[in-house]
Amino acid sequence: MRVLFATSEAYPLIKTGGLADVSGALPKAISQLPDFKGDIKLLLPAYSAVLAKLKAFKTIANIIVLGQDCSLITGKMPDSDIEVIAIKNAALYERTGGPYSDENGIDWLDNPLRFGVLSRVASLLCSANSPLKTWLPDLIHCNDWQTGLAPAYMKLLDNSKTKSILSIHNIAFQGCFNANWLTQLELPAAHFDMNGFEYHGQISFLKAGLFYADKLSTVSPTYAKEIQTAEFGFGLEGLLQTRSADLMGILNGIDADEWNPATDKHLPKNYSNSRITGKHAVKHALQQQLGLDTNANAPLLGVVSRLTHQKGLDLLPSLMPKLVDLGCQFAILGSGEKKLEASFNALAERYPAQVSMNTGYHEHLSHNIMAGSDFFIMPSRFEPCGLNQLYGLAYGTPPIVSNTGGLADSVCDTTTLTLKNNSATGFVVKNVTSASLLVTIQQALGFWQDKKIWRKIQKNGMLQDISWVSSAKPYLSFYQQTLK
Ligand code: ADP
Repeated sequence: MRVLFATSEAYPLIKTGGLADVSGALPKAISQLPDFKGDIKLLLPAYSAVLAKLKAFKTIANIIVLGQDCSLITGKMPDSDIEVIAIKNAALYERTGGPYSDENGIDWLDNPLRFGVLSRVASLLCSANSPLKTWLPDLIHCNDWQTGLAPAYMKLLDNSKTKSILSIHNIAFQGCFNANWLTQLELPAAHFDMNGFEYHGQISFLKAGLFYADKLSTVSPTYAKEIQTAEFGFGLEGLLQTRSADLMGILNGIDADEWNPATDKHLPKNYSNSRITGKHAVKHALQQQLGLDTNANAPLLGVVSRLTHQKGLDLLPSLMPKLVDLGCQFAILGSGEKKLEASFNALAERYPAQVSMNTGYHEHLSHNIMAGSDFFIMPSRFEPCGLNQLYGLAYGTPPIVSNTGGLADSVCDTTTLTLKNNSATGFVVKNVTSASLLVTIQQALGFWQDKKIWRKIQKNGMLQDISWVSSAKPYLSFYQQTLK
């Protein structure tokens, strides 16, 4: 089975969020399954960061795609044998800033072209005109809107025999652009239609993928159901209902090479469920590093997140003075909405020994917050899968989450019953409101006071199998089903 895994980011080459974690870990995990006979190659743009990290790369083809001169280069992932095909075009991809936006967070104006080229190359690699003469994929696995046009090109331009899957990692991001792009994107105008890639008068990359891919998947079973409703479907629920039989929800796993407290290189001390004392040392070091009181008895609540409406963290600032009065500390790492960043910064100024706020993107600090905190807060309004709550489970940092998407599928609320049957792993907020979040945090603090119960909750989470190996198996079955 030859699989082309097309994505716009993959850890450790380039990362803005969960998609990178999945793209870095899933191909590796599938390729290591004993039942997998074949190979997976990753396709992504050669951003500057990718060129800096790709191992031993060489140019294998020069092509013109959507009028752009591109080179295809191949190399290996820095941490595995997975082969990467990267699309090199300096003007499109080698820029200061992020993969989607400039340093000020403004989306690149030519994103339709940048990800149109990614999608077009993906399609070409699955066609009779592929520049890789000897490697034709049986299956292409596309991810999110950035690769959404690939299944459309495959069906409409290339008459490709390769089967296609599109995975939705977050349906809120749809890649909708002005219809003026039609010509440059070489999209046939006849299909700029409700039964095609048109969406409310615009070109929608995601809708194209949802419409033309052979099969669809998303990153948790609950989210697969939610996106077929008006509340969570962001306008695409109707189309998804018609494709319900082709849509599969598979919960993400975590990459144990990166996220394992027993081996995590970012931590000053490693620990595991059977040697939990190391976690106390990490908490102490984190408090010290962040300028918080080094008080082992102060419950430390961690946040690592994009600060957007989705994540529900706007519910937190108004609760923090009260929680600080109760003795709580906060370690916050996140960036996004400036107003929310300012609220957290103001609280950090007001309570320097209890509240720490860091903006920007810090891999090292994120691991230390995950390990050093006692609780992890994630009250998302919607959450396709969410990775941080999974890291929280693995790191003995029980998550406080809302009851949606992958959070609902991975965290079991602590009650008398779930404590008794050893399934309690965290705390579930009933409604996404400040009042409800406060009640749940207070309940969690109550359980934390009882060290015996707390160890039980930690242990239940730490011993749960949430590795990519168990998620890779259903993906492989889904690949096989798609090829039938
Ligand atoms: P999403 O993909 O919606 O942002 P996920 O929970 O699925 O949310 O994944 C987020 C990933 O990005 C996690 O690996 C998390 O640790 C990481 N992350 C988010 N914000 C930051 C940050 N400011 N610094 C470091 N890592 C971050």
